[in-house]
Amino acid sequence: MPAEITTLLTFFGGTGDLAKRKLYPSTYNLFKKGFLQEHFAVIGTARQELTTEEFHEMVRESIADFVEDQANAEEFISHFYYIQQDITDANGYAAMLDLNNELDAKYSLKGNRIFYMSVAPRFFGTVAKYLKSEGLITENGEYNRLMIEKPFGTSFGTAEALQNELSEAFEDAQIFRIDHYLGKEMVQNIAAVRFGNPLFDAAWNKDYIENIQVTLSEVLGVEERAGYYDTAGALRDMIQNHTMQIVGWLAMEKPASFKDVDIRAAKNAAFNSLKIYNREEVAENFVRGQYGESADGTQKKYLDEMDVPADSQNNTFVAGKLQFEMDRWEGVPFYIRSGKRLAAKSTRVDVVFKKGLNIFGGDVELANPVLTILIDPKGGIEFKINAKDVTSEFLTRVVNLNWTVSDEDKKLTPEPYERMIHDAMDGNGSNFADWNGVAIAWKFVDAIQEAWDATREQFPNYVSGSMGPEASNDLLAKDGNEWVFKG
Ligand code: NAP
Repeated sequence: MPAEITTLLTFFGGTGDLAKRKLYPSTYNLFKKGFLQEHFAVIGTARQELTTEEFHEMVRESIADFVEDQANAEEFISHFYYIQQDITDANGYAAMLDLNNELDAKYSLKGNRIFYMSVAPRFFGTVAKYLKSEGLITENGEYNRLMIEKPFGTSFGTAEALQNELSEAFEDAQIFRIDHYLGKEMVQNIAAVRFGNPLFDAAWNKDYIENIQVTLSEVLGVEERAGYYDTAGALRDMIQNHTMQIVGWLAMEKPASFKDVDIRAAKNAAFNSLKIYNREEVAENFVRGQYGESADGTQKKYLDEMDVPADSQNNTFVAGKLQFEMDRWEGVPFYIRSGKRLAAKSTRVDVVFKKGLNIFGGDVELANPVLTILIDPKGGIEFKINAKDVTSEFLTRVVNLNWTVSDEDKKLTPEPYERMIHDAMDGNGSNFADWNGVAIAWKFVDAIQEAWDATREQFPNYVSGSMGPEASNDLLAKDGNEWVFKG
C-alpha cells in the first residue's frame, strides 16, 4: 500500500463531461491503489439541483467500468458531497466554506485543499478570486492548490490577464496548469530515454543531432467543433500547448535533479532562448495549410464543413521550424507539425542523428540514425541504425531496433488525468506547464498568427488524406532535410 494522501478535492464543474468521463474514474483508481484511503473527501459543484443520492448515482455510473468490488466502490462514493452553486455569485461560497470546514473536521483533512477547475476558462479567474475573498483558502493547511484546465488564454495578453487574476489568490507554485500531453506515459519516456542512458544524454546536442521532429497528426476533420476551432486553428489548438510542451522535454538543459523546480528551470533555459520570429522570419520558417477534399471526393473540404465561414482563413495544418539560441542547439532545427485530415493519426518524436564520417568507402551509403519515440496511438521506441548487409561485399543497411508497449503495460499505465491528480496531491509540478513556458509559447505563436493575419493565403492547399501542403516538405528540403514520418 502506498502512503495515504490526505486531501479535500473540490471539482468545479462537477456534473460536466470531463468530471464524469475522466476525473471521477481517475480519482477512483487512486482510491483503489491506496493513495486515497480514509482521510479524503470530494466535493462536486455546479448549478444543477441534485440530492446527495442523485450525485452519488452520477459518480457510480461514471466509475462503473472500473469497479471490481462494489463494496469498495460504495466506500469510495460515500466520501462524495455535492453542493449546488453558481460560481459567479460570491454569496454561494459561504455554504461551500461551511461544507469545507465540516469535511475537514469529519475526515481530519488537515486543511489540505485542491480546487480543480473543470469549468469553462472564462470562470477560472472569478473562481480563484472568490476562493480567496470568501475564505476558502486555508491558512493552517499543509497546502492549497489550484488545478486548472486548458486553454490557458487565447493569446499572450489574455493569458497574462488570467495569470494576474490567479496570482492575486495563489502563488505560482500552487497553480497546476494541466496539459494532458504531459501526463502521457510516452511523453514522460522522453526524459527516461534521454537522461537514463549516457549514450543519448551525451549525444543530445548539436555535435550529434542533425534535427528533431515532432509530429501530432490527426485523421479526423473539424467534426462538430468549428465554432471553437475556426477561432483557434491548429496553431493555437495544438502547437501553442501540447507541441511546445513536448518540445520543452526535448530542448531542455539537463536538470540538476529530477525535482520539479529543477525540471522547470532546465526547461525555461531552453524556452527563454527560443527565437521569436518577425514577419519575414515567419514566412521563411512557418507553413500554414487548410484541408481540401480527399482525392476520391468522399471527404469534404474545410470550407464546406458545418459552421465554417465560406471565406475562412483558418489553419488546419501548421508546420514550422524552431530555433533555440543556446549553445547546445546552435544550428539544430526543431521541426514541428500538426494538422487535421492527414494520412495517419500519430503523435511522435523523431530525433535524427548525424551520419558522421563514412570510412567504408566503396558503395556504402550510411543513413542518419533515428531515434523515434511513439506516443500515440501506439506507444513504443524505435532506433534505426546502420548495420551490415548480409551480402558478401561490405555493404550496410538500416536495421530497426524496436519496442512496443504491450497490452499488459497498457493496463498498468495510469491515465493522464489519474497521474495529474496524483501528482498535484503529491505537490509534484514536474508534469504541469509553468507560467514562463506558457507565456513564451504564446509570444511565439502570437507572432506567427499576427504575420498570418496580415496576409491572405490561397486555401485549400492540401488534399485530405495527405501529409499536408507541399510547402511543409519544402521547408525541410531547404535545409537538406526531410520528414522521417511520411504517413
Ligand atoms: P461541460 O460538460 O460543459 O461542463 C461544464 C460544467 O460547469 C458543468 O458541470 C456545469 O454545470 C458547470 N457550470 C457551468 N456554468 C456554471 C456556473 N455559472 N456555476 C457553477 N457551475 C457551472 O464542460 P467539460 O467538457 O466538462 O469541460 C470542463 C473544462 O475542461 C473546460 O475548461 C474544458 O475546456 C476542459 N477540457 C475538457 C475536456 C473534455 O474531454 N470534456 C478535455 C480537455 C479539457 P451546470 O450547467 O449545472 O452549472
